[in-house]
Amino acid sequence: MASPELLRAAGLRRTPARLAVLDHLQARDQPASHAELQAALAGVDDITLYRTLATLQGAGLVHRVLGVDGTWRYGANRRGQPGCPGNHAHFLCTACGAMTCLHDQPMPHVQVPPGAVVEGRNFLVFGRCARCADGA
Ligand SMILES: [Zn+2]
Ligand SMILES: [Zn+2]
Repeated sequence: MASPELLRAAGLRRTPARLAVLDHLQARDQPASHAELQAALAGVDDITLYRTLATLQGAGLVHRVLGVDGTWRYGANRRGQPGCPGNHAHFLCTACGAMTCLHDQPMPHVQVPPGAVVEGRNFLVFGRCARCADGA
């Protein structure tokens, strides 16, 4: 679904910032940090970006993954499509900050407390990417 339809289906007004953020996240293969989004979306100021990400998350259109570096990275929720719909493992390079989706890999089996309802899974592997490991 295109961004305007996604916003309409979620009952959200179509603001330029929401469209820009959603378009960008849907076009990306990997999750993006706030700083990466800021660099890519010159027309969206800092505060608007924070608010927009919070709104899109609240509507279930965007999810986020926390890196061991304390930085959140955001992806568009597109079930069954490329991009980062979440619910899979990620690799985080602690040197350059790039996060890579590890699609189609088995997730570790974790026993949740009795009666708990799982809403998502998040598994992070971290280290240095090939490029960064090479320069070390
Ligand atoms: Zn991902
Ligand atoms: Zn790296």
